[in-house]
Amino acid sequence: MNILILGSGGREHSLAWATLQNPKCDKLIVAPGNAGIAMIADCADLDIMDGGAVTVFCDENNIDFVIVGPEAPLAAGVADDLRGAGYPVFGPSAAAAALEASKAFTKEICDAAGAPTAAYGHFTDADAARAHVREHGAPIVIKADGLAAGKGVIIAMTDEEALAAVDTMFDGTFGDAGTEVVIEEFMEGEEASFFVLCDGDTVLPIGTAQDHKRVGDGDTGPNTGGMGAYSPAPVLTDEIAERAMAEIIRPCMAEMVRRGTPYQGVLYAGLMIKDGAPRLVEYNVRFGDPECQVLMMRLGAQAFDLMHATAQGRLSEARVNWAEDHAVTVVMAADGYPGDYEKGSVIKGLESLPEDSANMAFHAGTARKDGQFLAAGGRVLNITARGASLAEAQARAYAMVDQIDWPEGFCRRDIGWRAL
Ligand code: ATP
Repeated sequence: MNILILGSGGREHSLAWATLQNPKCDKLIVAPGNAGIAMIADCADLDIMDGGAVTVFCDENNIDFVIVGPEAPLAAGVADDLRGAGYPVFGPSAAAAALEASKAFTKEICDAAGAPTAAYGHFTDADAARAHVREHGAPIVIKADGLAAGKGVIIAMTDEEALAAVDTMFDGTFGDAGTEVVIEEFMEGEEASFFVLCDGDTVLPIGTAQDHKRVGDGDTGPNTGGMGAYSPAPVLTDEIAERAMAEIIRPCMAEMVRRGTPYQGVLYAGLMIKDGAPRLVEYNVRFGDPECQVLMMRLGAQAFDLMHATAQGRLSEARVNWAEDHAVTVVMAADGYPGDYEKGSVIKGLESLPEDSANMAFHAGTARKDGQFLAAGGRVLNITARGASLAEAQARAYAMVDQIDWPEGFCRRDIGWRAL
């Protein structure tokens, strides 16, 4: 099969790596890809937000199957355009991608499905939002409705902070994403990510993970896109996962079918777990980055079969062959991230790393010049390893980190601590 993957991060590098292990893959193209992906697959310069252009590219390159990595092309309807042209696609329609693109929509689906989530109000008017804050009081969570790249959520610990957050949301800071605001009850508990595939009908769990959002060791400092992740997440026990399936995910997927917008792709549920009960924090309509890297390392070649079965509506026949293993990914970032950072520093030592089914350096933001790898983003490398235990996976990942010579980069030294 000829396969096209859309995206350019560490997530897409890991999707490409897993896909290439499957003998059904004859040719792999990643658009636009990055310097690490270019070492294992062809990269194509393509505007992945333009469904028409992606369809023409598929026609010209005899593509049989398309995997969409990030959320933005999904929300823009690229999967709809491809399906309309007859291509099997891994990724939901724009209508179903609203589960990530609109927090108010997700709340509406949860209400209709009876899925446990934080109590909330939905506002298009600042005065009404302020009145809601005064009535319910802090701690309280203020969210811009639309896609705001993880920056549209303010957890207010005091009423003053909450009222200031409402003002910021309505003053245009978040553009269109902030003209509608969702205000939620603050949920206590431990957060974990639950990944399922849905082919419109059948729902199949494919793993759990936890990530580390804060930049500093011990979960300190500002929030980031994620400084590392591990899988499985011990807090998400089999019992809690089954409750999440029965109480949250299956009812929500059934509600999507009832509305005539069945969900087809990976659904990433952010759950808050307290006293053995899961509640939904958010849905994402794609793999998390860097959670995808640990899932791909654990699933290996079967990831491709599962994604293809999802796109073809064959999940009822699919099985996940679980290995009793653990994976850890450590994000290496440029000094200064998540604030200002420099691009262009040289990264040495990547060539001599062990790269096999248990060790991989996935590239998130690198460029290649004169044979050298250069940092080309904030989060630059995802050093990923697998082991029989979390401790073994962690030790392997840090052994690789220690072989990398990049004075202008840093990483957290404690990825996985919560579970160890
Ligand atoms: P991202 O996709 O980066 O996770 P987002 O913009 O989609 O962010 P949410 O996931 O809804 O936003 O919220 C971001 C984070 O804020 C959550 O991962 C969680 O830690 C925290 N959070 C959100 N809602 C609540 C809530 N009701 N109670 C407690 N914490 C919350």
